[in-house]
Amino acid sequence: MIILQTSKKLSKPISLSQEEKIKWMTRLLSKAKLVGHRGEVPIAAIILDKRGRCIGYGGNRREEFKDPLGHAELVALRQASWINNDWRFNDCTLIVNLEPCPMCAGALIQARMGKVIYGSEDAKRGALGGTINLAEHKSSHHNMLIEGGIMEKESRKIIVDWFKDKRDLSRESLLSKLR
Ligand SMILES: [Zn+2]
Repeated sequence: MIILQTSKKLSKPISLSQEEKIKWMTRLLSKAKLVGHRGEVPIAAIILDKRGRCIGYGGNRREEFKDPLGHAELVALRQASWINNDWRFNDCTLIVNLEPCPMCAGALIQARMGKVIYGSEDAKRGALGGTINLAEHKSSHHNMLIEGGIMEKESRKIIVDWFKDKRDLSRESLLSKLR
């Protein structure tokens, strides 16, 4: 007897209210600040499943692990794949405080992420609209929902302040050497 397999209906990522998006972004920004205190660029990401449960978290770990792949989004993806026991994320949502770079945007497309929500646009490296939109590129075979600009001002400030502090510190240490 031949059993015909009915194709599994793909469920959709959770629809978050504006209030919920702000609640998650507020939490992420406080996590991102802690990441910044560890000497990493202050970026943090979470992944929510279709019911809105957090199944992955990642802070930037590039310096700590000496790993070019240590971006927050990829750290979160690895954890969520392990918890989900799957590499497909069609019904999940990734939230991050800065627009993903080309490496992370590529990975999110490969992971079939259902939706990406980000805080600040990145006009220098952003790959979901800031410099290029990989999700709409002809190489993309996956239709990913994207929403940027959640707590844009606050998200931008954390990054800008971190780089400013870093510049001030390196100037101070240079001056102390000259003294
Ligand atoms: Zn990245």
